[in-house]
Amino acid sequence: MNLADERLMTLLGRLQLTALRDQLDTLLDEAARRDPNLREALTFRCQAEVARRERRRLEMAARLAKFPFTRTLEDFDCTARPALAPKHLRDLALCRWVGNGDGVLLLGPPGVGKTHLAVALGRAAIQQGYSIPFTTATALVTGLTKARSEGRLEERLSHWAKPKLLIVDELGYLPFEPNAAYLFFQLVSRRYERGSLPITSNRSVGEWDQVFGDPVVATALLDRLLHHSQVVTIRGESYRPREKRRSGLLKPTPGSSTE
Ligand code: ADP
Ligand code: MG
Repeated sequence: MNLADERLMTLLGRLQLTALRDQLDTLLDEAARRDPNLREALTFRCQAEVARRERRRLEMAARLAKFPFTRTLEDFDCTARPALAPKHLRDLALCRWVGNGDGVLLLGPPGVGKTHLAVALGRAAIQQGYSIPFTTATALVTGLTKARSEGRLEERLSHWAKPKLLIVDELGYLPFEPNAAYLFFQLVSRRYERGSLPITSNRSVGEWDQVFGDPVVATALLDRLLHHSQVVTIRGESYRPREKRRSGLLKPTPGSSTE
C-alpha cells in the first residue's frame, strides 16, 4: 500500500467509516480503472470532513466549559506585558503541565488579562483533547456549600475532582467564610497530584490568609497549590481602558500612543 492510500485509510478510520476503509483497496482498484483522480478527490473530501468535525468538537467543548468569553492566545497583546515572555505563553499553550497534573497560578491586579489567559489556555487544552470545566471560586464554593447542606457534598466533590483540568477564576475577589474555605481546601486536596487546577487571583499569595480567613487553611492550601504550580504574575495597568479607547468609548489620554 502506498503512502497516499495509508493516509486515506487513516482519515476513514478517524471518520469511523470502517466498512469503507476495510474495502478501500478493492474499491480503489475498481474505480481507478474508470477515474484516476478519484483517490485525490476522496482524500480531499475526507480531510475537509475531519477538519469540520474537529471545529465542531472545539465549539461544543468550549460551550460546555462555560468560558465567560471567547479569547485566544493570539488575541493576547504581549507588547502590553513585556515581562511576560511570548515563548513562555506558547510553552504553556502546549499543555504539558496538564498532562503532568501541574497547576498554573495567574496572579495580578484587575484587568491585566488573567481571565483572558486562563480562557486561552483552556481553549488550547481543549484542542489537545481535554474537556474542562471553567468556574469562578465563588460559584464553586457556593455550589459546595449548598451540596453540603443537602447532604450531597461527597457527590459534588467527586464531580469537581474528576476532570483532568479545572480552571478556577477570580479567587480572592470575595473573602471566604471559614467553612467555605475548608470546603475549597477539601477540593484542592482531592485534586492534589491528580488533576491540574489553574487559578486566577487578584491577591498575591501573601494575602491568601485574608482570602481564606484562616491562616492554617491558607498555609495548607498554598502548600498543595504551590508544590506543583507555575506562578505567572502579571503586573501593570488594566487593559480595559485601552479596549475602551479602541472602541471609541474613551478619548486617548494626552501623549499616549495610538494602540
Ligand atoms: P483580569 O481577569 O485580569 O481582571 P481580563 O482577562 O478579564 O482581566 O481582561 C480584561 C479585558 O482586557 C478582557 O477583555 C481581555 O481580553 C482584555 N485584555 C487584557 N489583557 C490583554 C492583553 N494583553 N491583550 C489583549 N487583550 C487583553
Ligand atoms: Mg478576571
